[in-house]
Amino acid sequence: MKRFEYLAPQNLAEALQMMADRPEALPLAGGTDLLVQMKEGGRPVEVLVSLKRVPEVRQFASNGNLAFGAAVTVGQIAANPQIQQDYPALANGTGLIGSMQIRNMATVGGNLCNAAPSADTAPPLLVLGAQVVLASAQGERIVPLVKFFVGPGQTVLQPGELLKEIIVPNPPARSGSFYLRQTPRAWMDIAVVGVAASITLAADNTIREVRLALGAVAPTPILVPAVETLLQGQTLTDDLLQEVGTVAAQAAKPIDDLRASAEYRRHLVKALTQRALRGAVARAKKGA
Ligand SMILES: Cc1cc2nc3c(=O)[nH]c(=O)nc-3n(C[C@H](O)[C@H](O)[C@H](O)COP(=O)(O)OP(=O)(O)OC[C@H]3O[C@@H](n4cnc5c(N)ncnc54)[C@H](O)[C@@H]3O)c2cc1C
Repeated sequence: MKRFEYLAPQNLAEALQMMADRPEALPLAGGTDLLVQMKEGGRPVEVLVSLKRVPEVRQFASNGNLAFGAAVTVGQIAANPQIQQDYPALANGTGLIGSMQIRNMATVGGNLCNAAPSADTAPPLLVLGAQVVLASAQGERIVPLVKFFVGPGQTVLQPGELLKEIIVPNPPARSGSFYLRQTPRAWMDIAVVGVAASITLAADNTIREVRLALGAVAPTPILVPAVETLLQGQTLTDDLLQEVGTVAAQAAKPIDDLRASAEYRRHLVKALTQRALRGAVARAKKGA
């Protein structure tokens, strides 16, 4: 690994000042992506600003919604009983990442900022309507997560800017969400397709609100708005599920690579979309 400078700020203001003074610096959270990229991929990095001792990005906030710092670990999220109950797709996604050792290091912010199309926290947070708070020495801005990803490994973050916090609105009553993925190996592998769904049911069990998001089948994780149009006001039948699966597969823009062909990925989108929607409806009814 090439030599690099390691800066260890003690609070957010210090971290932001360091990022402003050294625009080439990269934040270091759990290091489970970044250190591997530096060590094995030869990624050139001159300065790291560690978030390990920055309390503002390591804690949960209480502002009426679910809000937590970007450097909260995926293990903390997966084990949180309130998240398991009210935001189950997020508990699913964080619980699938790596091994227990990885989950104890890896952070949600790191997963989002690394911007892999297969990131397991992205589809759940997209269907849950998450927003991200980006901070720099100049101030803060709030960006809907759907506008955060620009391409593989690319986000709207500017030099000197940090992902500070993730905000997820409280789901309405009779809501449920679900995330699942397909990997060639059962564990320690990344998704060849990931699908998240969130659903809110009306009193008569028709669908009041629905969102579907796909991972690993486009340059960024994506929402599929066509599914919302198709399902709003409907009851989920087998025929409708088939149709929705086809619509989702059409929205996917997968590539052929070593891990799966584009055709297999489309087939998986169709199957996993149906399972994710069924799962979300079952959870919405249970939470009623
Ligand atoms: C063995 C193994 C298995 C894995 N399995 C999975 C898996 O199943 N699913 C999955 O999605 N991922 C997986 N990963 C990838 C990785 O663990 C996750 O992406 C993790 O969440 C990254 O978080 P981190 O805190 O380690 O990020 P880091 O490695 O510290 O940072 C990643 C990138 O984000 C930037 N960054 C970090 N925090 C911030 C911030 N607050 N603001 C701005 N930029 C920031 C860094 O500068 C860097 O570019 C795996 C990795 C390994 C090594």
